[in-house]
Amino acid sequence: KLSQRLEAVVKYIPTGSRIADIGSDHAYLPCHVVRKGLVPFAIAGEVVEGPFQSARKQVESEGLTEEVSVRKGDGLEVISAGEVDCITIAGMGGALITSILDRGKERLVGVKRLILQPNLSAIMIRQWLLEHGWELIAEDILEEDGKIYEILVAEQGEPLRPYDQKNLPPLLLLGPFLMKEMSQPFKKKWKGELENWKRIVEKLDQAAKSDDNLRKREQLMNNIRMVEEVLYQ
Ligand code: SAM
Repeated sequence: KLSQRLEAVVKYIPTGSRIADIGSDHAYLPCHVVRKGLVPFAIAGEVVEGPFQSARKQVESEGLTEEVSVRKGDGLEVISAGEVDCITIAGMGGALITSILDRGKERLVGVKRLILQPNLSAIMIRQWLLEHGWELIAEDILEEDGKIYEILVAEQGEPLRPYDQKNLPPLLLLGPFLMKEMSQPFKKKWKGELENWKRIVEKLDQAAKSDDNLRKREQLMNNIRMVEEVLYQ
């Protein structure tokens, strides 16, 4: 059985598509979707030897070696252009996911859909998508075991479509679909962030007033104002 987090990723995989799951670890996601008959073929990509071996063992033990190809390599290096039409990348920071997409840009040519689940810094992914021709088409947020996870779904299209350009910074930070929906996990996530930021501001106020600290404080206050406006408007 998959975690709720990975189930939420699976929900956005179009039936019948060929997928690559990058940073697959045990290859739970690719095995699950193939076993369920949701997709006919999946690649499990891993760059680290340990997880790569776990993925191989999992695929063998489920008897799925024909349908799930386990490949060792960095990011999108494990797929050739045109091989898959949907890519999932889950359970990493937004910076790492963005760097994987950016370094593998040329392999994204035939890819129709990206399903990305950053553990933090979703803003970096939204920014990258916006600058590289990918249109955010859906977002999801859920809480599991006390942690809150975001899922971003994008297709090649009109990247500005989900955004009101007059209001870009908060939309990039919080997510245009999530902001509209205002779900319980969304409110909880941003209330938690506000508390964190306010704690850091207090610490900065007690520390030396270096240029660097003042810059950090200004940035945090900006974010606090932005998020409070969304939550408590
Ligand atoms: N995707 C699974 C999930 O969501 O449960 C596993 C997440 S696990 C925390 C992150 C995995 O990504 C690790 O197994 C790590 O080895 C792998 N990884 C990190 N950087 C990678 C890269 N550049 N290319 C491929 N895999 C990578």
